[in-house]
Amino acid sequence: MLNIVLFGPPGAGKGTQSEKIIASYGLTHLSTGDLFRKHLGEGTDLGNLAKKYMDEGHLVPDEVVIQMVEHKINTTDESKGFIFDGFPRTTAQAEALDVMLGKHGMKISGMIALDVPQDILKERIKERGKTSGRADDQDEEKINTRIKVYLAETLPVAAYYEKQGKFKNINGVGKIEEIFDEISRVINSY
Ligand code: ADP
Repeated sequence: MLNIVLFGPPGAGKGTQSEKIIASYGLTHLSTGDLFRKHLGEGTDLGNLAKKYMDEGHLVPDEVVIQMVEHKINTTDESKGFIFDGFPRTTAQAEALDVMLGKHGMKISGMIALDVPQDILKERIKERGKTSGRADDQDEEKINTRIKVYLAETLPVAAYYEKQGKFKNINGVGKIEEIFDEISRVINSY
């Protein structure tokens, strides 16, 4: 079983590469951003709660995210494994994930981080904002907040996996196919 954390700042290309990983390895996609946007679209209580944080570029509180992820893991059967995209975003979430997976006799195979310089991230997010309809993609200040939050709260998650010998950094700039080839090399080494 493969359980992969795809890691990187907003705009790094996690969603794009997740799709390719799913197509090749048949994993179950677990994107917390997508799950929140689904709740938002359906107007659930969870969606309304998350919206306040998401629109400003802040993180949704850990306990809310963790509960949502646990529900998804518990209700997915017969999976070859998960690709975690946009989660864990804090060290507390990473610790909770290890516990959740442990309950099912599973563990994280490794974390793959997409490395992209800040100026390119900002360009990509603004470009995506023209078509994504996402409030958090359209405003310079919100984009800056998301990058700041990433550096302060999410970057320590890389160290969490590095300590376990499970961290691998990959250049996230270049052709989508070439980046995917690099990712595949790492996955095939698990
Ligand atoms: P991006 O990676 O481009 O920032 P996402 O779709 O992963 O986009 O996330 C969008 C927003 O959803 C985040 O800015 C945050 O408000 C919320 N969110 C998603 N995942 C998490 C998480 N694991 N913990 C807290 N908040 C999250």
